[in-house]
Amino acid sequence: MTTIGFIGLGIMGRPMAANLIAAGFDVVAYNRSPAALEAHVDKGGRRADDIAGAVRDADVVITMLPDSPDVIQVLTGPAGVFSHARSGSLIIDFSTIKPEVSVELADEGRRKGFRVLDAPVSGGEQGAIEGALSIMVGGDPADFAAAGDVFNALGKTIVHVGPSGSGQTVKAANQLIVAGTLELVAEALVFLQAHQVDTDAAVKVLSGGLAGSTVLTRKAAAMLAHDFRPGFRIELHDKDLGIVTEAARRAGVALPLGAVVAQLVGAVKAQGGGALDHSALFGLVEQLSGRTPTED
Ligand code: NAD
Repeated sequence: MTTIGFIGLGIMGRPMAANLIAAGFDVVAYNRSPAALEAHVDKGGRRADDIAGAVRDADVVITMLPDSPDVIQVLTGPAGVFSHARSGSLIIDFSTIKPEVSVELADEGRRKGFRVLDAPVSGGEQGAIEGALSIMVGGDPADFAAAGDVFNALGKTIVHVGPSGSGQTVKAANQLIVAGTLELVAEALVFLQAHQVDTDAAVKVLSGGLAGSTVLTRKAAAMLAHDFRPGFRIELHDKDLGIVTEAARRAGVALPLGAVVAQLVGAVKAQGGGALDHSALFGLVEQLSGRTPTED
């Protein structure tokens, strides 16, 4: 049986670890806040009290953490993965972080005898629960092949996109598309409400045409209900749009709409909405239009 050391049982990590257990892996997890570990044990996983305990006997180490500094700390810190994992083990970082940080971590890991992949995901909490994530992988093709069983337990669309860091670059493009689409869906819904159109009927017909998208299908109802429980938190999308704008500047690429939507996501955060789902962009459009939820 393959043993997996799993670090980061958050909104995404919890269901991903559960799917790995269901697929027959021995999953030893560590999380900073211990509550999530109890649920993991109830599902048949094992718990560790620190990173060393999670990775010491692991063939594969998985991280699913919020941001670049978290992954740097967990991998390279004195109590971290590089100091305690078995030489030769496969380290897969599913977090969304800066591409250049993934490159540096892969280089450092390789120097220390590890095989490191960046494998950010798309599909949200629902995709994680259903084992239907899109997984965009950067790193050595042989390491990608070796991780096949792990990826297949978590995702449906699994693509090796290039060398280390490429997975993160593709994920940045993903976050650009998702944020821009969310904003336009929010604007369209506020527009429809202002015209007193039946929004359910409108979403149904829009979903079948060129305007249809997973964002429209998955997020319109929650927007209309003002149900902004995460999901994907505004503060994480704000982080991702920072990655997008920085990477675009480095490459000398203009992303005018991306820059606007980055400002709008930042505004929701500045107004105290950082912990809300990113569909809370809808509330900002209502506010900009002088509309309140009770008006329609
Ligand atoms: P989250 O904040 O819910 O989970 C992160 C978990 O990591 C938490 O349980 C936290 O306790 C733990 N953690 C943080 N620092 C730690 C440390 N030093 N040691 C051990 N545990 C630590 O975040 P999430 O929504 O699960 O997202 C995780 C990553 O996946 C992020 O990079 C995010 O951008 C990305 N992502 C999220 C979604 C989504 O819909 N939520 C979708 C795709 C990608």
